[in-house]
Amino acid sequence: MKILLLEHPRKPSGDRQNDIANTTLASCLNSGYLAACLLQAGHCVDLVEGYMEHLDYTAIADEVAAFKPEILGVHLVYNWEDNHELFTLITRLKQRYGIAHVTVYGYYPTFAWKEILTRCPAIDSAQLGENELTMVSLANDPKHYETLQGLAFRTPDGFSSSFGNLVSDLDTLPFPIRKASTYPGGEVNIFGSRGCYNNCTFCYINPYYGNASGCPRWRGRSPENIIAEIDQIIAQTDHRYFYFTDPNFYGPGEAGKKRVLKLAALLKQRPITFGIEARANDIDQETTAALVDAGLKNILVGLESGREEVLVRLNKHTTVAQNETALAILRANGIEPNVGFIMFEPDSTLEDLRVNFDFLTRNHLLDRLEISVNVLYHHQIILAGSRSYEELKAAGRLNISDHSVYEADTDYSHPQVADLAALMRQLTNHIFDHMASTWSLSEAGDPATLQRYKAINGLLVQTFGDILNAPGLLEKSDTILKHVTGQIDTIMTLKDSSC
Ligand code: SF4
Repeated sequence: MKILLLEHPRKPSGDRQNDIANTTLASCLNSGYLAACLLQAGHCVDLVEGYMEHLDYTAIADEVAAFKPEILGVHLVYNWEDNHELFTLITRLKQRYGIAHVTVYGYYPTFAWKEILTRCPAIDSAQLGENELTMVSLANDPKHYETLQGLAFRTPDGFSSSFGNLVSDLDTLPFPIRKASTYPGGEVNIFGSRGCYNNCTFCYINPYYGNASGCPRWRGRSPENIIAEIDQIIAQTDHRYFYFTDPNFYGPGEAGKKRVLKLAALLKQRPITFGIEARANDIDQETTAALVDAGLKNILVGLESGREEVLVRLNKHTTVAQNETALAILRANGIEPNVGFIMFEPDSTLEDLRVNFDFLTRNHLLDRLEISVNVLYHHQIILAGSRSYEELKAAGRLNISDHSVYEADTDYSHPQVADLAALMRQLTNHIFDHMASTWSLSEAGDPATLQRYKAINGLLVQTFGDILNAPGLLEKSDTILKHVTGQIDTIMTLKDSSC
């Protein structure tokens, strides 16, 4: 069977410049894994990296025309808007090239499959959840797709759907196919585990895998299997920086810690550096020291809040003390972490924001614009599949987007929090605009740019703090926005010597 897998182009959204959760980082390897599994099963595969290679729809149509696939698989990523242009392309490709079956996969189809199948009749099936086993069975027997596990499709009576079977031993998967374009900035994305042992209200990692019984929520590859893939990449390319896309690098408990130590010992013997993502409660001195010794350079820690009550509301199962200990351990080991932080969540109070602000200040997380512009802005993104989405829906508080059931928001419980969230969104979008054009200068350490960033950071932090001290100021949000953005523009255009 000839199967073309498409990573479609994704359009940036001006208003959602730093909302990165329209799919998970781990999904970037999905098509590569499918391609590897299909090849292993004896099929003929073309992987079109329309996103990483910036292909337009004409170039994609040319690839389809040249390859003549019998099955078209599309990793469908939500673009913060209706994907109607992509649906039109899929319809045209199917008709023009007589493609027998079009299937879509990823987080968006998993949670919005009914809407997608309704909006785009050219799509025959949507794959729900983990999909390596589903895709291979579909390629083996596309005519009888209605009998397969893991697909949603139309029936004469409506729809049928089931979640895909999980791969119980991840070491049995072949290594993903990677094209030259899938090394962004020379970085190699790699995954060492799937799922997570926690279940935060805002997260849809575990719901993506369905309610499969018999499989633990967190599944890890063996350190040896991960190293074999790294060794292969070292042998075949010049790339030496690896980023683990695992939502949770550490497995649970003592066994999780032992696995990390073993992996660190093996990584240390390779000439590489790497980055990971982790929960605060897993950061301890022993594993951190071992990972740093092995080449750890970057870590994203999901702190989420500086207030206990909020961590409980988010079902984070961590404490403020654990957050602070994690920061201290990482810094003592020479790592300045990136942090995940949700300043605004649906039930935030002004007091929550004040406690968060104090937490960020005393932990030096408001010292640099690159961090402040995120942590003072981030609001909880409410996507289908998450517990928050379901709970707000049940409470009648969910405002589903006009674009898709996949995305929603809610009215904040407290109007002043809503006003501050709206102000920070506009203010930080304005800053992101400037940073987009000056980011490379900042990264290169250009003194004038660093000075400007420092001045803007001071302005941003001060504005936030002033409003928390005098919430009545929010009645003049428009004036504040105009005043602060004007000051930012002035700072950005000042001559080097005067800023
Ligand atoms: S700890 Fe991270 S990956 Fe795990 S459920 Fe929470 S947000 Fe998701």
